[in-house]
Order: sequence, then C-alpha cells, then structure tokens
Amino acid sequence: MTETADLPVDTEAAADAEVPRPRRPALSPSRAGDFKQCPLLYRFRAVDRLPEKPTQAQVRGIVVHAVLEELFGLPAAERVPDRAHALLAPVWARLREERPELAELFTDGAAPDAEDAWLETASRLIDGYFTLEDPRRLDPEARELLVETELTSGVLLRGYVDRLDVAPTGEIRVVDYKTGTAPREIGEAKALFQMKFYALVLWRLRGVVPRQLRLMYLADRQSLTYQPDEAELTRFERTLDAVWQAILRAGRTGDFRPNKSRLCDWCAHQSLCPAFGGTPPEYPGWPEPDAGEETPLDRAD
Ligand code: SF4
Repeated sequence: MTETADLPVDTEAAADAEVPRPRRPALSPSRAGDFKQCPLLYRFRAVDRLPEKPTQAQVRGIVVHAVLEELFGLPAAERVPDRAHALLAPVWARLREERPELAELFTDGAAPDAEDAWLETASRLIDGYFTLEDPRRLDPEARELLVETELTSGVLLRGYVDRLDVAPTGEIRVVDYKTGTAPREIGEAKALFQMKFYALVLWRLRGVVPRQLRLMYLADRQSLTYQPDEAELTRFERTLDAVWQAILRAGRTGDFRPNKSRLCDWCAHQSLCPAFGGTPPEYPGWPEPDAGEETPLDRAD
C-alpha cells in the first residue's frame, strides 16, 4: 500500500454517484518547489492556506499570460504585436472584473498614473515575447493545459502547462513564459524543476518524452531550452516520490521546519516565521483535498 492510500479521501462520496468525488491531494511543481525550498513555507501555503497579497509583478504575469493565451486563439495571420497590445486593456478589465482583489493593487494610495505605468511594463513584456518567436508560424496543440497523472508509487502529479506545441512528427515541446523580476540565477533551478515535472507528467500521459522544454524569459528577451531524457526523468520521478513522502511525514506530525535562505526576501510570511522571530499559527492538521494545488499566482512567475 502506498502512503497516498492513507490520505483523507472521501470514500462515501466516491460510493455515491450523485455526489462528486473530491479531487485527491496532488503534488504540483509550485508546491513541491515550496517544500524543497522551505517546509514551513509549504505549510503556510498548502496547509494553512494563508492569503498572500498579490504583487504588481505577479498580477502583471497573470495578465501577460492571459494575453498570450488569447493571442493564440486568433487566426495565425492576426497574431502580430499590435493585436497583442490591443488585447492588453480588455484582458486586464476582464481579470479585474472576475477577480476584484487584483484591482486593489491600484486603490490603496497608488499614484494616479501607477496603473498606466504598470500596464506599460506589461506591454514591454509583450514586446519581449515577439523578439523571441513569431506566433504566426506556430499552431499550439494546447494553452493553459491542466495535466495530471499518477506515478506508480501512487503520487498524483498535477500542474498547468502554459503551452504545448506538437510537431506533425509527434514531437512535443513544452513552453513556459517567465514574466517575473527575480534574478535568473535564483529562478532558473526552480524553473527547470517545474519543466522536468511537466515533462515527466507528459511522458507518463502520452508515452513520449517531450523533445524540448523551452523557458521564455520575456523581460530578459532570452529563451532557455532543455532536452530531457528518460534516465533523467526516471531519477526525477524518484525525487518527486521522496518529496511527497517527506510532505506526508511532516503533514502527519505538523513538523514543517523553516529553512532560511536568500529566498526569504520573497516570502510573504516572515512575520509568522520562527527564523525571523515570529510564531506560526497552531497547526490545523492535514487538509483535504488539494494540498498541492497551484494558484494562478504560481503560474504567473
Ligand atoms: S521566511 Fe524563509 S524560512 Fe521563514 S517561512 Fe518564509 S521561506 Fe521559510
């Protein structure tokens, strides 16, 4: 029996066809990365689910990802910079309406032209995108694709792929847009971990190792490409198994330890962290379900 079998799954609901079965707890690249970086950060995000006020950079990432997703919904010939820029304002208006908390970025004492200046930075990221590829020449199979698979160990992996390109030969390319401002040397290992995660899920789902993983850094106007192989993804699978088992052990005991690093500068929960003199809230116990779920903010880095 695998440890996932011990996890709280609502079997009564599963037995009742009228009641939808809750989704099982799963591991996402963001939450796995959190645990590897700092178990306490994982707890704050996945178990306590403490709110984090979105930053302007995160919301800009959400907007730019949405613009690029809509761009690929246009006929190929229309995927030009002017059309992409024209999508920016309506996409931002739609997101503000759907998620009013995003609009709060510019209501608390922000300068009158702060929103315009921020939208301009989003425009520059879109310009950055067009320096890296010509979307008129691409025909993605999927955008914002939810992928989910269960490893033989029973670990359920779940995540979102920004874009999936599939060549007529069947070769798969996984594309991820990076819009954040964190230093590349900090973000790169995390990004590669995320891409290997997607490659493993797609390999398990489709029986084909993706030919290429492509990270597109829109601010730097640079791409990083990487070719995974079976041996490496097999090792990576063992890593994910080990991470999930460690999460389950911590989840049973509530022993999620802080791990201080440079990345603490980006942590929204320093005031509750013992490494910074804070006291975490009382451990609420292992949640169900979706303790590994990604949020839109995770996908906007
Ligand atoms: S401040 Fe640092 S050590 Fe504390 S929870 Fe955040 S990431 Fe972990």
